[in-house]
Amino acid sequence: MHELSVSSAVVDTAVKHAAGRQVLLVSVRLGHLRQVVPDSLVFFFDLCARDTVCEGARLEYEVVAARLRCEPCEHEWGVTEPAFRCPLCDGARVVVVCGDELEVASIEVHQEEPACIV
Ligand SMILES: [Zn+2]
Repeated sequence: MHELSVSSAVVDTAVKHAAGRQVLLVSVRLGHLRQVVPDSLVFFFDLCARDTVCEGARLEYEVVAARLRCEPCEHEWGVTEPAFRCPLCDGARVVVVCGDELEVASIEVHQEEPACIV
């Protein structure tokens, strides 16, 4: 139920930023290493959004590819699998450069039409 807690955090963040306005779209950046299943994320997002200003909002996501760096030899490489060993020196002192993002990048809210003053 990993995606449920993620979705609930995404909805919380969007609700906070919306400040009472109706949310139309939520964009999130998902690091590949988070191993979040996007379809489940969308499903749970809809569930968590019920009865909030996010109800009916579209969830958009961008998956961020992962890059790792070996600290001793500074070799940097992209990964599709979480394999935490340097292919160059076989070292295990490896840091994640990117790929563990899980953040709300932006939201779109419904703007009230400016009142028409005749
Ligand atoms: Zn290395």
